[in-house]
Amino acid sequence: METSSHDVLLVGGGGAGLRAAIAVAETNPKLRVAVISKVYPMRSHTVAAEGGAAGVVKPDDSIDEHCYDTISGGDWLCDQDAVEAFIKEAPQELLRLEHWGCPWSREPDGHIAVRAFGGMKKRRTWFAADKTGFHILHTLFQTTLKYNEIFRYDEWFVTKLLVDDGRVCGVVAIELMSGRIQAITAKAVVLCTGGCGRVFPYTTNAAIKTGDGMSLAYRAGAPLKDMEFIQYHPTGLPFTGILITEAARAEGGYMLNKDGYRYLQDYDLGRPEPKPVLRSMELGPRDRLSQAFVKEIEKGRTIHGPYGEVVHLDLRHLGEKLINQKLPFVRELCLKYEGLDPVTQLIPVRPVVHYMMGGVSTDINGATPLPGLYAAGECACVSINGANRLGSNSLPEILVFGARAGVAAAEFASGAAEQVSQAVLAQAEDERRRLEQQFLRKTDGNERVAVIREAMQKTLESGAGIYRTQKSLEDAATHLAILRERAGNIALDDHSRTFNTELLSALELHCMLDVAICIVHSALSRTESRGAHQRTDYPDRNDRDFLAHTLISQDEHGAIRVNYKPVTITRWPPGERVYGQPTQTAAKA
Ligand SMILES: Cc1cc2nc3c(=O)[nH]c(=O)nc-3n(C[C@H](O)[C@H](O)[C@H](O)COP(=O)(O)OP(=O)(O)OC[C@H]3O[C@@H](n4cnc5c(N)ncnc54)[C@H](O)[C@@H]3O)c2cc1C
Repeated sequence: METSSHDVLLVGGGGAGLRAAIAVAETNPKLRVAVISKVYPMRSHTVAAEGGAAGVVKPDDSIDEHCYDTISGGDWLCDQDAVEAFIKEAPQELLRLEHWGCPWSREPDGHIAVRAFGGMKKRRTWFAADKTGFHILHTLFQTTLKYNEIFRYDEWFVTKLLVDDGRVCGVVAIELMSGRIQAITAKAVVLCTGGCGRVFPYTTNAAIKTGDGMSLAYRAGAPLKDMEFIQYHPTGLPFTGILITEAARAEGGYMLNKDGYRYLQDYDLGRPEPKPVLRSMELGPRDRLSQAFVKEIEKGRTIHGPYGEVVHLDLRHLGEKLINQKLPFVRELCLKYEGLDPVTQLIPVRPVVHYMMGGVSTDINGATPLPGLYAAGECACVSINGANRLGSNSLPEILVFGARAGVAAAEFASGAAEQVSQAVLAQAEDERRRLEQQFLRKTDGNERVAVIREAMQKTLESGAGIYRTQKSLEDAATHLAILRERAGNIALDDHSRTFNTELLSALELHCMLDVAICIVHSALSRTESRGAHQRTDYPDRNDRDFLAHTLISQDEHGAIRVNYKPVTITRWPPGERVYGQPTQTAAKA
């Protein structure tokens, strides 16, 4: 079996992976760094981010206020030491990107423009029109090209982490173009594989977001943290799930029910006063807005669409000039995918799964409990997002913690000896045999990937969606166990080795099943409601028992274990979630 070797291997070529690669190269230029990605790096999901990246930059704002918004928005499940480091470093990272060429939108006088975002009391979200992720990823990608020592495996799919004596020392991967299966060893591996929205039926997430890295870590024995916290974004297009960015509401868009009524005024969006202020209610936190949608369905005040219930997002009063200038992509998406023009028409929207608060459990520097294994970005849980991420905190997160994980992995690799034992090579050979036998050469299966995938997605939506109960979660757990059995009997029609997308989707399905099972079991154990995890049978937050992170892992026999780890509180004791109105004094974004 062919083997190649590097000092640090980044799995993932999105924002976190590329930022980490640059950090490794800067920390120790002698290290041999490689980035492996199942798609060409510029196709990673980071490219799709629209609204912006939060970082304190205006004189009326402060680090403490951004910390507080993040911590209260996360319903006190954030580790506050991690939040403080994150908020302090975020503006520095955004500025660094500026120096690397990121074209941030400006105010007329040349200062950085910022826009309001959900759950943030001050305007602090930097943006590059509504294509922020595209510009961030492009900037990072072109910067990596300056470093000759960064080697790339484009369109390679990682199927396994190699572990020797508890230490991670490489991966097994398939080159998609040729079907070649290879071991790639490394002193340190950093997982930057992004989220897992595809485990649900309606999601803003690209088709590649199948939770591979979470599953790789879980199978290798590393715990996953806070997997029950799934963020629904309140404004996705029905059917496709395409995101209409929160920037549309930040610029002044309204949410209307079937009567043309701004229904959010009837709900508690986490304010001390019973009714939200009309001017800012559309910028309440995502979890509360998505929960209000379910309540509107129950009241019979939503609109029946061809793909289920929807409400309307109204941008008409913003005018064509502002929409073209600040939200050109929103207009383009509506015209292309809904055949409607938001300048004159209402946009049908519904909550769709958007972001995974949980992920591979890491410390503040991206280290997992397994020596040699690091994680950063959406696949990791540091945790700064707690029970509900605030919009525009994720892009700075992939920069801050991508960089931190890169530095930590580089330091570890600089002082570590290469560990490629016979046992490791035998593990890689076993994996190659498994891939051949279970997938490429297997002809006797009677299950289809698409059938099981669809059943899994429906199971999660009905069992572990916006609202959950003991019964819905137990049913989901039972279904998923059956689906996992059935997935072992999948038949592939395509036995070729060149871009075998059927094989790929089967491998991704197995990853998604692992992730789905972790979500459901974590949600079952947490008998309280907090942030995005709403149990109608336990409607209250319970700080006495659950001011703690869920850690889910499997033992060597595959049995699931759920443990808890206390939340780190530094300066902000648990309180009520309170949202104010974005001040108008900051930039005229
Ligand atoms: C539509 C949309 C809009 C968003 N808008 C915003 C926004 O405005 N502001 C904000 O803060 N956040 C936003 N987010 C969230 C944010 O964009 C993501 O959380 C973030 O970009 C994730 O970056 P990442 O580097 O962790 O992962 P990704 O960019 O998803 O990259 C994952 C990488 O891992 C690789 N990979 C995965 N599995 C494997 C495997 N098995 N083998 C090899 N490689 C693998 C992929 O090829 C890819 O290169 C948005 C998300 C979406 C979906």
